[in-house]
Amino acid sequence: MIHFENTLDFARKMDAQDPLAAFRKEFLFPLHLGHECLYFCGNSLGLQPRAAKAALEHELKRWETLGVEGHFLGDLPWTHFHKALAPASAHVVGANEAEVIVMNTLTVNLHLLMVSFYRPTAQRFKIIMEAGAFPSDQYAIASQVQWHGFDPAEAIVEVSPRPSEDLLRAEDILAIIEKEGPQTALVLFGGLNYFTGQVYDLEAIAAAAHAQGSAVGFDLAHAAGNIPLKLHDWGVDFAVWCTYKYMNSGPGALGGAFVHEKHIHNSDLPRLTGWWGHDEGRRFLMEKNFQPIPSAAGWQMSNPPILAMAPMKASHALFLEAGMDRLRAKSLQLTGYLEFLIDDINQAQARFEILTPRDPQQRGAQLSIITGPEGKALFDYLAQNGVICDWRENNLPSASVEKVGVIRLAPAPLYNSFEDVWQVAELMRKFEG
Ligand SMILES: *Cc1c(COP(=O)(O)O)cnc(C)c1O
Repeated sequence: MIHFENTLDFARKMDAQDPLAAFRKEFLFPLHLGHECLYFCGNSLGLQPRAAKAALEHELKRWETLGVEGHFLGDLPWTHFHKALAPASAHVVGANEAEVIVMNTLTVNLHLLMVSFYRPTAQRFKIIMEAGAFPSDQYAIASQVQWHGFDPAEAIVEVSPRPSEDLLRAEDILAIIEKEGPQTALVLFGGLNYFTGQVYDLEAIAAAAHAQGSAVGFDLAHAAGNIPLKLHDWGVDFAVWCTYKYMNSGPGALGGAFVHEKHIHNSDLPRLTGWWGHDEGRRFLMEKNFQPIPSAAGWQMSNPPILAMAPMKASHALFLEAGMDRLRAKSLQLTGYLEFLIDDINQAQARFEILTPRDPQQRGAQLSIITGPEGKALFDYLAQNGVICDWRENNLPSASVEKVGVIRLAPAPLYNSFEDVWQVAELMRKFEG
């Protein structure tokens, strides 16, 4: 246990001892009045790796000089490009390389994998999910339910916080899975709630769902590249995530998808297919009768956008080099330091309520802070002082005139420093709203 101190010297000492400190210079920071911003928005859009541009220019050059031959020539022909993205994807979510694929985007992948894993019957048609899930997930899930001819009001079971609470209780999630189990076709949870920053016990949720004979899938948009995941060992059926948040792959970058090994050879699973998922050795024979690639790659439909994938290679190299164990270790310290500093400010006068769980195992690289009526002014003041973070109206059960907004601060361990954390807390301390 480190004894944190609220001084710039201490923060700098932590940075000097940080084994991952050198990764910071691998990223490009937006500037504010000629200085690097205090960037705390990696949960929304991760920063650009310095090597992204060269990776993109490399593929532009190959297109220029090879034309269509680029699909087949060179160290990494475009027909094999997705394979270069498997090692880091597998590392980040805890999977075998054959269980992951980079394709499409998050919501599209959610739909595609629900086609395979949401197979409602008259007896078993419900989907259990968290209340307050990211809107895209809510819309996607409701539309799948309707497309199968069911009524979302009946088929979707949301797990909500208890009255006067904002976070979900692990035992409530498991109790609902047990209660609704016989009628449940799919348990579909987020890994880390985008608003509260709460991490769910995915291993326990997967086990509870399977005990009821339900499939289980996870949306890991805010979890991938942030918290430890073991999708293979947990026996999760499928998962999806985006790569532009903690994985720094660029605005609208392609999504990731996981299908557990145990399903790869199951030809009874329906899926929506396209030529890029067809047996690679026979793809260009242009024959009838789809034969899926025996891996998650068999869920691909189209040939992928290489220019959009190129920057991911740069980002993936950094993840493999840093490693999730070291990233998590630093993340626990970095977010713990932010928590310590906010608590320290509150000692003089309680001003900032931390919404995110206090238990480090139940959170990632994010603290959501509930603010009073002065919240928007605080957010604007931070922005004027070079802080990039996120402001939302409070839509939680606890929202009131005293609890108007939520500021989310995400110290990303790959590029944020302890000094960044100290600086943003110091600005908050000095704020006179
Ligand atoms: C960021 C995020 C999305 C965004 O979906 P896209 O299809 O990538 O636009 C969806 N769901 C969750 C939970 C997210 O956090």
